[in-house]
Amino acid sequence: MKQSLLFVPTLKDAPKDAEVKSHKLMSRAGLIKQVASGIYTYLPLGYRVIRKIEEIVRIELDKIGASELLMPALQPKDLWDESGRWEKYGPELMRLSDRKDREFCLGPTHEEVITQVVRDYVTSYKKLPLALFQIQTKFRDEMRPRFGLMRGREFIMKDAYSFSESVEDLDVWYKLFTKAYIDIFARCGLDTKIVSSDVGQIGGDEADEFMVMSEVGEDTITYCMSCSYAANQEHSGLADGDVCPVCGGTIKTAKGIEVGNIFKLGTKYSSSMNAKFAARDGSLQPIIMGCYGLGISRTLMASVEQHSTEDGIVWPFEIAPFKVHIIPINLDNEDQKTCSNKIYDDLKMNGIDVLIDDRSERAGVKFKDADLIGIPYRVIVGKDASDDLVEFIDRTTGEKKIIKSTEILSYI
Ligand code: ATP
Ligand code: MG
Repeated sequence: MKQSLLFVPTLKDAPKDAEVKSHKLMSRAGLIKQVASGIYTYLPLGYRVIRKIEEIVRIELDKIGASELLMPALQPKDLWDESGRWEKYGPELMRLSDRKDREFCLGPTHEEVITQVVRDYVTSYKKLPLALFQIQTKFRDEMRPRFGLMRGREFIMKDAYSFSESVEDLDVWYKLFTKAYIDIFARCGLDTKIVSSDVGQIGGDEADEFMVMSEVGEDTITYCMSCSYAANQEHSGLADGDVCPVCGGTIKTAKGIEVGNIFKLGTKYSSSMNAKFAARDGSLQPIIMGCYGLGISRTLMASVEQHSTEDGIVWPFEIAPFKVHIIPINLDNEDQKTCSNKIYDDLKMNGIDVLIDDRSERAGVKFKDADLIGIPYRVIVGKDASDDLVEFIDRTTGEKKIIKSTEILSYI
């Protein structure tokens, strides 16, 4: 992609309400633009990263045998009455009515709709197990939208649901999703801790959260210094210095950002919404369900929070909007122009996402923008271009070297 054509509205100053580093950088680097409190436009560069994260999620969920569908955001009240959540959900549910005064909500989550989808088709154990997922915009009228995409009122989530004939089979899905989540977050460059959580609003039997340790996290995690015990403080009630309930070690606390959340729902929705199947013994049983949420837009935010300095982002390779950023110092110089165009064409031909700064800006401006945008590999084409030599920078390690332009591919 040519930078002259890419819409990247970088800013000198962050918006006044941006409190945390990632929110400041995402605004300054031209990744997102606020429309209203907790509501954002994903600008081209930010949306490229969203699509990369979504692609990783799709690949990893495909591996465990979950299939993708897309449910509506607009959901009728009747379904929420069936589950009893129309009354229970409270002011976070965005409610509206149509021209005939029928009531609807904008989905904050999709247990009701997915149960309605499945109950008419899955009437026998022969059609189980089943796992379905979607990547979709969710709506929640959060009391305190903040930190940019971290707590939005409209945000992108991957939500998945599993359907089993037995608790043993639910266990299998729970483990498969746990593994998939570990792989997804690792590929997004995030180090996550799995903590046991309170089941809260959704309700059910067992739940775990995937946390990215961070000072700006809104959750407090209690964990043991000696064993793998970790729990959300809301759930454990433990504090710094307490004794670990598992091994007797010392408990510590830290802040975390919740990027994913998995639940064993059991029969909460299938019972109330009458999703039953004929079991092997001929009896009619409610389907045993699990649900698995992952915040796509929050993952983007957490990744920027972890992989940045005050001056700019350094994208983890797999989710970087582009992998290589070519910066010609002076495009009026024929050697530099030819050399950078050749590198650009070569990389493109090899299927590498490459951005070339072909704008007629001063080198200083180009470097400042490049630091902000944070593409992992940078190629600077300067006066040695006549000898086919360029500067190659690995932004993750900070390593710089002068190499032949033809060597670039072997470094990536
Ligand atoms: P939180 O405790 O942060 O409000 P939650 O328990 O309400 O999260 P879930 O309903 O389990 O979250 O949603 C699944 C995932 O969606 C969360 O793990 C998180 O990554 C993401 N998410 C939830 N609420 C928001 C929001 N307001 N903005 C952005 N992402 C969100
Ligand atoms: Mg919430």
